[in-house]
Amino acid sequence: MSWEDNIRRVTPYVPGEQPRVTGRLIKLNTNECPYPPSPEVSRILREMPPGDMRLYPDPEAVELKDALSEVYGVPRERIFVGVGSDDVLSMAFMTFFHGSLPVLFPDVTYSFYEVWAELHGVPCRKVPLDGGLNIDVSDYEGPCGGIVFPNPNAPTGIYMGLENVEVLVGSHPDCVVICDEAYIDFGGESALPLTEKYDNLLVVQTMSKSRAMAGMRVGWAFGNEKLIKYLNDVRNSFNSYTLNRAAILCGAAAVRDRDTLEKNTGMIIKTRERTSGALREMGFAMTDSLTNFLFCGREGVSAEPLFRALREEGIFVRYFPGERTGERLRVTVGTDGQMDVLLDFLRGYAG
Ligand SMILES: *Cc1c(COP(=O)(O)O)cnc(C)c1O
Repeated sequence: MSWEDNIRRVTPYVPGEQPRVTGRLIKLNTNECPYPPSPEVSRILREMPPGDMRLYPDPEAVELKDALSEVYGVPRERIFVGVGSDDVLSMAFMTFFHGSLPVLFPDVTYSFYEVWAELHGVPCRKVPLDGGLNIDVSDYEGPCGGIVFPNPNAPTGIYMGLENVEVLVGSHPDCVVICDEAYIDFGGESALPLTEKYDNLLVVQTMSKSRAMAGMRVGWAFGNEKLIKYLNDVRNSFNSYTLNRAAILCGAAAVRDRDTLEKNTGMIIKTRERTSGALREMGFAMTDSLTNFLFCGREGVSAEPLFRALREEGIFVRYFPGERTGERLRVTVGTDGQMDVLLDFLRGYAG
C-alpha cells in the first residue's frame, strides 16, 4: 500500500512553449497579440496604490461586469467572469456537464476540453469534423449531455455561421451548449444575441487574444440569468476571489477601449490576409481563418521537421501530432515584420 494508490492521476493539457529567453525570438505559437493592450492598462498599473493589495478583491468583480455590461449591452446578472476563459470553461464543465450522457465536441478542437472532461469525470464523445475540417451540425443529432465547441474552431480557424450554431442550441433544449468565442473579434459574428432566445446557451469570451491581455488572465461568459447563477454557485464553492484587483481594473479599462481593440484586430486581419496570400503563392494549403492564426501545410513538406527547423531559427509555431492535424502547422499572425521573416525562411526551405 502506498499513498500513490489513492491519488487522482490525470493527463494534463500541454500549452504552447513559453521560452524564457525572449531575445531575437519570433513567438507565433500561442496566439498572443503582437501589439500592446489599451494604454489605459499601463496607466492603471502605474497608478495603482500597492497598499490596496492588503484587501481582498471584490468577489463580484462589479467594475469589470459593469464595463462588459455597458459595452455589450447585457445586464450584469447575465455575465460571469473568471481567470481567463480557461477558468470559465472549467467551471462550466463542472457546473453544466453533470449527467450520464456523453458531452460532444469535435475531434479536432481545443485539446483542453478532453482534459476537463477527464478531470471532472464527464463522459464525452469526439465527433469527427467533415473532410474539409468543418463542423457538420447533423453529426450532433440525438440525445447528449451537452455540447462544447470553439467558434471559430481551433486549430482550424474555421468560423461556423450563426444559423448552424442556432441549430445546435435549438435542437438540444435539454442540455447546455457552450460556444467558446476566444477568436470571435477577428471577423466572426458572436452568438451573444442567441442567449436572449435560448436559455441553454453559454457564450464564452476572453481578453487573451484580441485584447492583448493573455498575461492578465481575464475571461467571461454571457448566458441566461439562471445559467450564470448556477455557475456562480459552483465558483463560490471553489474560490470566491478568482479575479485579483489589477485584473478587475485593467480588464474593465480594456473592455471599454473599443478603439484599441479595433485598431489591433484590424492590423492582425490585414496581416493575416497578406500572409495567407503569400503562403498560397508558395504552394501552401490552408483553411479559411477568421482568427489570429493560420493552419497551413504544403504537400510534400513534412510538418514536424519544418516545425523543428523553424524553432532552430528562433521562430516558434505550434505543431499538433495526429492523424488529422499532423500535416499542418498552426502559425499565429504576428506583425508584418515577423511574418516577413517567416515567409523568407519558408522560401528558402526545401523540406
Ligand atoms: C486561447 C483559448 C482559450 C483560453 O484562453 P484564456 O487565455 O484562458 O482566456 C479558450 N479556448 C480556445 C479555443 C482558445 O484558443
